[in-house]
Amino acid sequence: MSLILKQILAYLPHSRVTLAAVLTCVMLVGTAGSVAAAGLEVRDIRIGVHDGATRFVVDLSDKVEPRVFGLPDPFRVVIDLPEVNFSLSEERIGDGAGLISKLRYGLFRPGTSRFVLDLTTPAKVAKQFLLRPEGGKPWRLVLDIQPTTRADFIASMRPKPDTAPRVASKPPPPLSRPPNEKPVVVIDAGHGGVDPGAIGVSGVYEKKIALDYSRDVAKRLRATGLYKVVMTRDRDIFLPLRERVRIARAAGADLFLSLHANTHPKRATKGFSVYTLSTRASDKEAAALAALENKSDVIGGVDLDGYSDDVQNILIDFAQAKTNELSVKFARGNLVGEIGQRARLLGRPWRSAGFAVLKAPDVPSVLLELGYISNPAEERLLMSKAHREKMSAAIVRAVGAYFKETQNARL
Ligand SMILES: [Zn+2]
Repeated sequence: MSLILKQILAYLPHSRVTLAAVLTCVMLVGTAGSVAAAGLEVRDIRIGVHDGATRFVVDLSDKVEPRVFGLPDPFRVVIDLPEVNFSLSEERIGDGAGLISKLRYGLFRPGTSRFVLDLTTPAKVAKQFLLRPEGGKPWRLVLDIQPTTRADFIASMRPKPDTAPRVASKPPPPLSRPPNEKPVVVIDAGHGGVDPGAIGVSGVYEKKIALDYSRDVAKRLRATGLYKVVMTRDRDIFLPLRERVRIARAAGADLFLSLHANTHPKRATKGFSVYTLSTRASDKEAAALAALENKSDVIGGVDLDGYSDDVQNILIDFAQAKTNELSVKFARGNLVGEIGQRARLLGRPWRSAGFAVLKAPDVPSVLLELGYISNPAEERLLMSKAHREKMSAAIVRAVGAYFKETQNARL
């Protein structure tokens, strides 16, 4: 088994589906080595279009050995580098050019930074090379991307039969909640790293707002001395959705809060809302939002859908009535009440939808959409310290009320 496959396996402990997808799609253009130069910097990114081909250039402070591969549906080129600092004069996440419809980058996991190029059509990296510094220009990584057919995209990357290791699909380990005097609250800052989440009218990223609020909520919860608080991420890093759920279960979470900010095509839309899990989304808009939030893993470049549909269905069935009842109690009874006294609520502020991140069958879980960054006034509000402190304090009060009222109802 190649080093790369081992790395993928190590990273995807539960994922049969994903592994199959990755194995079908891995297009190894580079080598598996890691340079991991200290203080490696990405200084500029350029996209050029010539005669139907698209050239992607990354200016670097030092030599790198990238790992380049493709993923279909949607077609993407993924470029993994050792962990780098993105020292760009301006943020370049957003629209691409030529065969690249969208460009994203960021920390994917410790030690690995990632570019994801969304493609307008099946396309392959026809040429890849590294240019040495010359004439005042730094190290440059150059990828020439050319259109191809879907069949070629798939076929040219398919590993030989019988070389693919098989990993059994297995359900998650049984819940073993460590004995803990204090209730465990898991705070999950949505998105991160290569996945910016929604982008606000002024250009602020949802991942930043989610992290700022999560840190504040975690700090305040810890300060009460009443809870053990675990954050799924405390920095700007990508985390697959299933990993977030896994962290919550491994911590023996009693309550899981996932923090997000929302956008809407109608700029006037604003207000706070909270979601609990539903196997059928409660309305079209909630379903659309769930689809968007669940896309996080697609954006990250690996479709980490941890379990087969069958297992997922069983998991959802396992979601005992009690878990959902407690999630709804917290969302509707505690959170909407507390936030409603201090901030604007969306019409019908409690909704349910099929969010992947809420699918721990044994942990009451809610997803908070703190407000709309597509609304200029609300975006400004969400970025203000005063509003953040007010909202965080309200969330902490809601958590307090919830545990007081459900002392004997803990799972
Ligand atoms: Zn989100």
